[in-house]
Amino acid sequence: MSETKILLSEKELPTRWYNIASDLPYSLDPPLGPDGKPVGPEALQPIFPQEIIRQEVSTERFIDIPEEVLEVYSLWRPTPMYRARRLEAFLKTPARIYYKYEGVSPAGSHKPNTAVAQAYYNRQEGVRKIATETGAGQWGSALAFACNLFGMECTVYMVRVSYEQKPYRRIMMETWGAEVLPSPTSRTGAGRKMLAQDPDCPGSLGIAISEAVEDAATHGDVNYSLGSVLNHVLLHQTVMGLEAKKQFELVGDYPDIVVGCVGGGSNFAGYAFPFIADKLKGARELRAIAVEPTACPTLTKGVYTYDFGDAVGLTPLLKMYTLGSSFVPPRIHAGGLRYHGDAPLVCGLKKHEFIEAVAYRQTEVFEAALAFARTEGIIPAPEPAHAIKCVIDEAVRCREEGKEKVIGFLLSGHGYFDLSAYEAYLSGKLEDYELPDEKIREALAALPRF
Ligand SMILES: *Cc1c(COP(=O)(O)O)cnc(C)c1O
Repeated sequence: MSETKILLSEKELPTRWYNIASDLPYSLDPPLGPDGKPVGPEALQPIFPQEIIRQEVSTERFIDIPEEVLEVYSLWRPTPMYRARRLEAFLKTPARIYYKYEGVSPAGSHKPNTAVAQAYYNRQEGVRKIATETGAGQWGSALAFACNLFGMECTVYMVRVSYEQKPYRRIMMETWGAEVLPSPTSRTGAGRKMLAQDPDCPGSLGIAISEAVEDAATHGDVNYSLGSVLNHVLLHQTVMGLEAKKQFELVGDYPDIVVGCVGGGSNFAGYAFPFIADKLKGARELRAIAVEPTACPTLTKGVYTYDFGDAVGLTPLLKMYTLGSSFVPPRIHAGGLRYHGDAPLVCGLKKHEFIEAVAYRQTEVFEAALAFARTEGIIPAPEPAHAIKCVIDEAVRCREEGKEKVIGFLLSGHGYFDLSAYEAYLSGKLEDYELPDEKIREALAALPRF
């Protein structure tokens, strides 16, 4: 019998990240200030360390992973890649399906790949504390884990409704020594302003970002850290795709299709970019599919334009597919996919037709998640369950067309903190959200104009 788990030894851990900016056959649109003029990287100095800013604008093809970061990666990397034999048999598909699993990290997702690097560079440059925001808690727990390992403090502004409804991620962050505050807080000007308007304000990711950025900008030894969207975050995540390429080589396969879910774009990019590199060179034909929820259909229904990264308008304007920075998506269970825009690097590839995008409804996504859990065993997080739905559709198409394709996808995290979502699905209480076109038009009408 051939192998189910395709494993690499620690010696095979990639020692460099791959920077797709070096290979793009088009130029990237620069970030803009509120006046519509390009902003240079120096604008980021009050909240990011030099090395991160350098990486954000770098066009070097590969960037060395520091020894200290590799040492921490070795706690769970290289991560396993699996051949999904039982899922293939269940679907009666001639396709070969492979998934790379990031749920083996201490925080249970791919997010520590960048959290560890960001904490390291900050500590190198004398930063004492990192402030950040978190919604459901995936990013906050990854950063809390990373800061603790490098002896740094970590303050997490956690959206108040999540803080109250989802205590387990908060406890996880506190276990790693982070300070977790229900946002809005009375500690920042942004928080006090919200509380003055509504003392019972439930909070939002936009408000939490504003609080964390203000904390960093007003304290010399405090920096800010972002878990997705920006170029350096996607860069750090490519360690996954670089490993996956070696793992495909080991079994003598190469994917015809790679699939990942997209919230801000970091797990999709980290997995797919090293393969897309081959496509950009013309060396391989490959379909890369980004999967999103119909409740927040940025790549499939958004417009490609400049928009703010946050709800309050503190960040520079980024060129991306967006539904408008004031857009508040319905409360689907895949909290990590509720972002109004997407990473500029991912959006550029979509615009230039190097990648495709599809959107799925919440119930069909959970149906796919159950099929996966009942064949492969691992209970997926609601976010990568979107990728699973797409993989199942492609594998069924292979059966219908009698095609033996190779399909790879990233299982970005486990769903063991998301069991209430499974409970809702199993008891028939899960709802679908298809965003009506008029709501999308309304959101888009509020976009900034120049
Ligand atoms: C945060 C998160 C996502 C979405 O973020 P991306 O930047 O698009 O990867 C997806 N899956 C998991 C498990 C997450 O924690």
